[in-house]
Amino acid sequence: MNILDHNRIVLFTGAGMSAESGVPTYRGQGGIWNEYKWEEYACQTAFDEDPMCVLDFHELRRIEALKCEPHSGHQMIKEVQEEHDDVWIVTQNIDGIHQRAENKNVVELHGSLWRLRCENEGHIFYDLDKAEYRSRKCTCGSWLRPDIIWFNDMLDPENIERSNEHISCCDLFISIGTSGFVWPAAGYPKLAKSSGALCIEINPDPSEQSHMYDRIYHETAGEGLRKLFKSD
Ligand code: NAD
Repeated sequence: MNILDHNRIVLFTGAGMSAESGVPTYRGQGGIWNEYKWEEYACQTAFDEDPMCVLDFHELRRIEALKCEPHSGHQMIKEVQEEHDDVWIVTQNIDGIHQRAENKNVVELHGSLWRLRCENEGHIFYDLDKAEYRSRKCTCGSWLRPDIIWFNDMLDPENIERSNEHISCCDLFISIGTSGFVWPAAGYPKLAKSSGALCIEINPDPSEQSHMYDRIYHETAGEGLRKLFKSD
């Protein structure tokens, strides 16, 4: 069976997908948390204590992300989505590179660096990529916080539900560049397998969940996707 004969495809991407574009991972060699303490930059307590410092840190992340370009793997996903109706991306990445590569149907499990929200007046969202609003404060005067999942935050239940929905009825599940360490990511291969999906992992190194996969490509994201889609 050709890989594209599958009908419902989910690509589950982690920091390794963007690492190939040059975005640093959080942990491991060159990881952001080797340089910065997350307690000072990536949790609600830090934001409450020093919002300017936390916002500066996230502005730096945006500047760094914009220096990075989508790679051949993003382009391949775009092509697969053009050929196929039902291809979803569930990503743990917050950098917006899938969208810049014109990948569609993206569920951002951990939110987006490119959105701010006001927690005071209900949830008001400001899209930075549309330059809709460039102030660090809401019109109500409250600080706007990045709409991302920080340490100790709960995931958005709607996003979890959407991801579960797609993964539990896919027939091809492809994990790319994730250590599979963080929940609910850690449970996804099991969920996909229980729906009878063919499960494929692309990662240069073994991950926590490697034993769950039917096929493994010990490759970088771009090369693994090329082998999977172009030479199957
Ligand atoms: P992780 O840092 O735990 O794991 C990264 C994985 O990518 C590792 O298994 C590594 O072997 C693999 N990898 C490294 N280079 C690769 C490449 N070129 N191609 C394919 N795989 C490669 O990342 P995670 O599993 O995504 O989970 C950590 C958390 O960090 C997530 O919550 C995510 O939101 C967050 N994060 C996001 C970004 C981003 O938005 N780009 C960056 C760093 C961390």
